[in-house]
Amino acid sequence: MNNLKKWQQQLTGEETAVVFSPVNRRYLTGFESSDGVLVTTADEAFLYLDSRYFEMAQIAQSRGKIPGEVVLRPFIFPKEFGERVKAGRVSKVLFEDKRLTVEELNKLERNFPEAEFLPMGERLEKLRVVKSREEIAAVAAAQALAEEALGALLPLLSPERTETWVAAELERYMKLHGAQEPSFETICISGTKTSLPHGKPEDRPLTRGGFLTMDFGCRLDGYCSDMTRTVCIGAATDEMKAVYNTVLKAQLAGVAAAKAGVLGKDVDKASRDVIEEAGFGKYFGHSTGHGCGLEVHEAPYFAPRAEMVIPAGAILSVEPGIYLPGRFGVRIEDLVAVTEDGCEDLNRSSKELIEIL
Ligand code: ZN
Ligand code: ZN
Repeated sequence: MNNLKKWQQQLTGEETAVVFSPVNRRYLTGFESSDGVLVTTADEAFLYLDSRYFEMAQIAQSRGKIPGEVVLRPFIFPKEFGERVKAGRVSKVLFEDKRLTVEELNKLERNFPEAEFLPMGERLEKLRVVKSREEIAAVAAAQALAEEALGALLPLLSPERTETWVAAELERYMKLHGAQEPSFETICISGTKTSLPHGKPEDRPLTRGGFLTMDFGCRLDGYCSDMTRTVCIGAATDEMKAVYNTVLKAQLAGVAAAKAGVLGKDVDKASRDVIEEAGFGKYFGHSTGHGCGLEVHEAPYFAPRAEMVIPAGAILSVEPGIYLPGRFGVRIEDLVAVTEDGCEDLNRSSKELIEIL
């Protein structure tokens, strides 16, 4: 069943949803556009697009990329929607309260005073949590491309390289092999900066004898990847190895705990316990993981207070870390696709410590 059908099954006969956000429109129609409006009822779907996208959408639909039941309309949403409202064919209008600005909502309510506007809440986001087989394959392909980029990079690493060079090289590889764009700003940090979980790359050589943390991913066919590997530029000290192996053990514990039916906080605890038992609890400040799909950060979460029951089909990162201020940090991140009895790790590349000697 396509995503649109799943969504329409959720709507009651009197509900009409208006979807303005590009990501939710992409989810429901398979079509990417920066602008446009999707109007759906339980049995109808109209996609309003302006001239920049209309022909492209017609071509996409003829190729089966947009479900046949989506009616493509040139950009006359306010007029047509107004007529439907006036004709009494629309009563309850669901709007994206998490994404619409107050100004945009005010405008809708002003333009269509006869309609009753109600927040959509998390109904659509919850649906997006459970990925179809095709969506899981799309995230896996994006992650495979990120891993390929890392594989191509590793033999080129040396202390003469700069952080910005490493970041650019990863992005260049992903772009040249089909990625639309990096799924977020690539993090490549070395030496003492590795204690900053989201530090920015700088045009300076990698630190000899220090860690290099690379957190990166790409968007391929709409879906995002996200992974982190930490390697050592030179030989790691015993202390660095101990911290690294603790993070690795925590990462593996998180992966082992992920399965359908557990709470988000259970997986966080599985990872966090390993780090706490090793005495580094206060140096792991962020949560263990987040959902990943059309957006690189989306529901659900592996976090200390995440009460959501994790369903089969969810894709999340497992990314514990230890960050010793002013000294060094380590993070290791894979994506996992949750199944009934466990999860599938979407990464293939080694997580053992790599020393670039
Ligand atoms: Zn990441
Ligand atoms: Zn992540």
